[in-house]
Amino acid sequence: MNNFEEFSTQFVQLVGNKEGAISPSITTSASFAYGSPEIAEGIFDGSVKKPLYSRMGNPTTAKLESIMAKMDGGIGAIATSSGMGATTLAVMSLLEAGDNIISIGGLFGGTYSLFSETLSRFGITTSFFDVDELEKIEESITDKTKIIFLESVGNPNMRLPDIKAIASIADRHDIALIVDNTITPMSISPLKLGADIVVYSTTKVITGNASALGGCAIFRAVNEKNDKFLSKRYTFLEKFIKNTKAMALVVNAKKRALRDFGMSANAHASYQTMLGLETLPLRMERIVQSIETIVKALEKEGLKINHPSLASHPHYTRYKELFTKGCGTLFTIDTGSKEKAFAFLNKTELATLTANIGDSRTLALHMASTIYRDFDEKTKEFLGITPGLIRISIGLENPQDIINDFLKAAE
Ligand SMILES: *Cc1c(COP(=O)(O)O)cnc(C)c1O
Repeated sequence: MNNFEEFSTQFVQLVGNKEGAISPSITTSASFAYGSPEIAEGIFDGSVKKPLYSRMGNPTTAKLESIMAKMDGGIGAIATSSGMGATTLAVMSLLEAGDNIISIGGLFGGTYSLFSETLSRFGITTSFFDVDELEKIEESITDKTKIIFLESVGNPNMRLPDIKAIASIADRHDIALIVDNTITPMSISPLKLGADIVVYSTTKVITGNASALGGCAIFRAVNEKNDKFLSKRYTFLEKFIKNTKAMALVVNAKKRALRDFGMSANAHASYQTMLGLETLPLRMERIVQSIETIVKALEKEGLKINHPSLASHPHYTRYKELFTKGCGTLFTIDTGSKEKAFAFLNKTELATLTANIGDSRTLALHMASTIYRDFDEKTKEFLGITPGLIRISIGLENPQDIINDFLKAAE
C-alpha cells in the first residue's frame, strides 16, 4: 500500500476518539495541579506520566505529537509554535559555540537567515552547498561539524537532493542529519532514508488551510550500542542515552531547547493541525497529480516552468526514481522580469497572493520583491531567485481551471 492510502486509514482513526467526544479535546490550561507532593516529585523525576506545565508538554499537543511520530516512524515528536520553532529546537539541541553546520540545497528564507545571520552571532558557522556537491560536502567536514541540514525539495529552486546518498555521508562521519520535510510529508519518509531528525512547518500543507501556525520535530530511536550519537562529537548526549535510552534525542531536545527557549505549541493550533492531518493524504495525492498536469500544460504553451517532473529539469531522473510520490505543492514560473511577474500576478484570478505555501487554495508570490528583498545579489543567485520569478503553490482547484487562468494571466 502506498503511504497516501495507508495514512488515509490511520489518520482518521488516530485523530478521532472511539468513546465519548470524537473530536480531540482542547486543553488550554497553562499549568496543571499535581494533587500531592509525591505525585509532584514523580512528575518532575519522570516516573509519573502526567502534565507538568504547558511549556514542557500539553495533552492536546501530545496527541498531535504521537500521530506525527507515527507518520515518520519516529520514536517521539515535539510540536512547536512554528516551523522555525521546530528548526531552532532541533539545531539548538545539538549545537554549541564553535560548531559548524553543513547546509545543503536551496533553503527556506527564514532558515537561511537563522543559519547565516543569527547563529553566527553565537559563534556557530554554516557552510552552504548545492545538493549535488557531495565530494565538496565530505571534504568540508571537521571535528566541529555537528549537523548536516537539508530540505527535501529546494524552495524555491526546486532542486532535489539524493537523501540516501547524503545520509550515508552523515553516517560515515557520525554526524546528525536533519531534514526539513515541510514540502513533502508522506511523499518522502526521511527517517527511513537515514535521517536522524525530521522537522516540519505544519503551518503549510499539514494543516493546509492557513488556520494555525505550527511546527514539529520528529526523532529516531537511539541505539544503545553502535549509534552515531555515542561518538565523541556528542558527549553531552551520554547522560540522556544512559538514562532514557532510545528516547535520548527527544529528552535532550526537551531539556536543551524546549524548556529553555520556550517555542512550545499551543493547544488550539495542535487541534487545528490534527484536523488538517485527517485529510492530508487525500489532499497530497490530489495536489501532486494536479501539479504534473499543470506544469506540463503550461510548459507546452511556452511558459518557463521549473518543476522536476518536466524533462527540462536537471533532476528529472531523480524525480522519476526517488520521488515517485511527487515533490509537494510547489513550482516556479520565470516570467523574465519584475514587470511581467507583476502583470501576471495582477491578472490571475484564482491565485491568492501570499507568502504561505501548501494551502487548499492555489497561492502565488513574486520572490525577489518579497521574501528575498533583503538578500544581496550573490545570495539570490545561489538561491535561484531571478528578477521575474514567481513561486506557485498548487491547491485543490480543478487543474484545468488553473491552467486556463494562468495562460490568461501570462498573455
Ligand atoms: C514555512 C517554512 C518554514 C518555517 O515555518 P513557519 O511555520 O512559517 O515558521 C520552514 N521550512 C520550510 C520549508 C517552510 O516552507
